[in-house]
Amino acid sequence: MNDDTPTSDRQQNDRQDGYDQARWTDGDRYEPLLSEKNSHEVSVNTPLPDDLTRDSLELPDLSEPELARHYTRLSQMNYGIETGPFPLGSCTMKYNPKFAEDVAAIPDAGVHPDRKDRTLQGVLGVYGTLQEHLAKIGGMDAVTLQPPAGAAGELTGVLIAQAYHEGDDRTEIIIPDSAHGTNFASAAMAGFDVVELPSGEDGRVDLDALEAAISEDTALLMLTNPNTLGLFERDIVEISEMVHDVGGLLYYDGANLNALLGRARPGDMGFDIMHYNVHKTFATPHGGGGPGAGPVGVREDLTEYLPTPHIRGSDDGYERYEPAETIGKIHGFGGNWLVLLRAAAYIRRLGDEGLLDASAKSVLNANYLADQVDLEIPFGPFHHEFVASADDQDAADAAKRMLDYGVHPPTTKWPEIVDEALMTEPTEVENKRTLDQLAAAFNAVASEDDETLEAAPQRTAAQRIDQVGAARSPRLSWQALDKE
Ligand SMILES: *Cc1c(COP(=O)(O)O)cnc(C)c1O
Repeated sequence: MNDDTPTSDRQQNDRQDGYDQARWTDGDRYEPLLSEKNSHEVSVNTPLPDDLTRDSLELPDLSEPELARHYTRLSQMNYGIETGPFPLGSCTMKYNPKFAEDVAAIPDAGVHPDRKDRTLQGVLGVYGTLQEHLAKIGGMDAVTLQPPAGAAGELTGVLIAQAYHEGDDRTEIIIPDSAHGTNFASAAMAGFDVVELPSGEDGRVDLDALEAAISEDTALLMLTNPNTLGLFERDIVEISEMVHDVGGLLYYDGANLNALLGRARPGDMGFDIMHYNVHKTFATPHGGGGPGAGPVGVREDLTEYLPTPHIRGSDDGYERYEPAETIGKIHGFGGNWLVLLRAAAYIRRLGDEGLLDASAKSVLNANYLADQVDLEIPFGPFHHEFVASADDQDAADAAKRMLDYGVHPPTTKWPEIVDEALMTEPTEVENKRTLDQLAAAFNAVASEDDETLEAAPQRTAAQRIDQVGAARSPRLSWQALDKE
């Protein structure tokens, strides 16, 4: 900043305090691709067949400083948990503490998983103790670490339920309308018919609706607890009895486990199968398509269905084995080892006290933030997240505008039970200053007109992007961009 600029001049800019993202200002282009900066042609000489090779290849030709600056600039054109708060409800975007990265970066962690068990005792020992810790946290009897995401954990759990019911003609999985889309997809992928359960007036499972939906055809009821409105299913014991009475199983979607850590356990509520989103609860990086991890816990009599190989204690330490009725393989080797190692480090560092403290603060922070926000919150009392209504504003436009105030917006327009939903989860990592900053952004946006919201964001590296196009027809290489 120029020290000669009088303060009054700066104030005349009439802009709110906040954070501007770095921006490339040459027309409507962004930071050039490496190959556009400088490239040269190399000839390719290979014994591979002609139809599989090319004669020459265009490669970027840049110095190390140019390369470092390119990536540093790109990182400044994005928003992340290391830029500011990220209250994306249901996703639990916690800051990932650096000590877990250090643990995952120790050279001895880089071992080949195909080695003999005898020479892999360190890795198998971490796996074995992580399985035990997760089982204890969830109130489960056994845990597999193999699934590479929460959604993959759901599919694993559904396949386990299918194997358990083999021979019975159970074709249906019941899922509340407030559930995450992956629940419906996992059930359908395994070939089940999905029965959607309408939520009750209070946002929870309606026992009459459940009674009407449940039958001898029910294989599984999938629940998130607290649910996506942040509400604890108070009737969970009764729900569990209803499902078990007809011979069905109860599945726990662990995305909101952050709210219960150290306080209540799905296994004690009657859940038979559950997944853990280690990137939501145990501060490993969110996958962004991978690698991630979504371990699955089961009660005792489902242990034989777990994916192979499973890991157990033996006379000589730990060993891999194939469970008798295994559903097969879900992922290569034992799952995404370095993600799981971070989760193990996080759990060990926090311990019982730390985990208890994390859930307490996540609930306190959500309630404090909700109290500071001048928006209607139709359902409560909530735990670690709340769903506010943007009311007569468009929630997606309001969200874009929040970026101009230097904070990431909440999840929008879901669950649909709340009009123009802003599903908000600050997590335990934010302090009061940051929560106040978030509340100020919510409140400033709430008082703005539609024109301002529709023109937002203005202070980010890119303005409105074609979100649907980006998801449906992504351009994943510079060649695709070049052809336009
Ligand atoms: C995130 C989430 C999932 C899916 O988990 P991934 O690890 O992202 O695959 C499932 N259910 C709920 C409620 C979620 O928030």
